[in-house]
Amino acid sequence: MFKDMLKTMLAAYGATGREQNVSNVIRSFVEPYADEIYNDVMGNLIAVRTGESGKKIMLSAHMDQIGFIVIDIDEKGFLRVSNVGGINPFISVARAVVFESGVQGVLFCEPEKGMKEASMSTLFIDIGAKDYEEAASKVSIGDVAVYVSNYMELGDRVSCGALDDRICCAIVAEAFMNAPRIHDVYAVFTVQEEVGLRGATTAAYAINPDFGINLDVTAVGDIPKCAKMSVKLGNGPTIKVMDSSAIIPKFVRNHLERVACENNITVQNEVLAAGGTDAGAVLKTRGGIPACCISIPTRYIHTPVETADMRDCLGAIDFVRALLSEKEIPAFKA
Ligand SMILES: [Zn+2]
Repeated sequence: MFKDMLKTMLAAYGATGREQNVSNVIRSFVEPYADEIYNDVMGNLIAVRTGESGKKIMLSAHMDQIGFIVIDIDEKGFLRVSNVGGINPFISVARAVVFESGVQGVLFCEPEKGMKEASMSTLFIDIGAKDYEEAASKVSIGDVAVYVSNYMELGDRVSCGALDDRICCAIVAEAFMNAPRIHDVYAVFTVQEEVGLRGATTAAYAINPDFGINLDVTAVGDIPKCAKMSVKLGNGPTIKVMDSSAIIPKFVRNHLERVACENNITVQNEVLAAGGTDAGAVLKTRGGIPACCISIPTRYIHTPVETADMRDCLGAIDFVRALLSEKEIPAFKA
């Protein structure tokens, strides 16, 4: 059931800045459980389930996926692109891509300069057009393509592009559907996270929550010869301590650690050396809002083979449910 929902969310097109399709898919799952549901100006999808405490919890995960924006079409019909979000040009060579319209293509780089030297300026998309006219009749400047990827189950693990961050959209949706009626729960499926936490910035300001719980993927230190990091696949969801966008306040982490401990949920502490999440935007909204990030350890982030462990995912669902069941909201005490 959860896996089916995840697969449906993974299959939806949703490049950064073009999230309406994936928003519609997520809406179809959560709407029956929401008292109110709407898209805001930015395109964030916001589902509300009211409680009795008068306090608001903002649960969030981003819908958008990194992509390639068309900046030029040459006379032979090849599309030149720039990145939307953190794309590695080298791993993009010889990949299949798809546009929102369904037009498919293959990414390659100018062979003369060599694949090892691939950069955004040497990459191009071939959509099978014979010339400029044919290409321009199918794709416009500003259209955005994303990697085509296969959903695969590898034992307890799953591999697919767009796990960042649809895996957490599915977790937020699952937790929202069964959220106890204690606090008002705002499930916010954000836009444009990959280009600077933009959707979360406006949503957190508008909602003005008492507590923000963000979910995203995080890197791991358990593959051959990678950078030092203690996080491992299968060791549980993480409690983020710090990344480039946020240092989670100690009183917020204390709350999370207590709830994890009391509910026998295995967690890992996470320090992510580079990269930010929507938690950073929520934390810095208005006069500062208590916010945290629970992460799913993920290998090969920002590639078509992002890989995560379902056990971490199920642990995160339990963790979010336990947090929503707490009457107490973390509050700063001097
Ligand atoms: Zn992400």
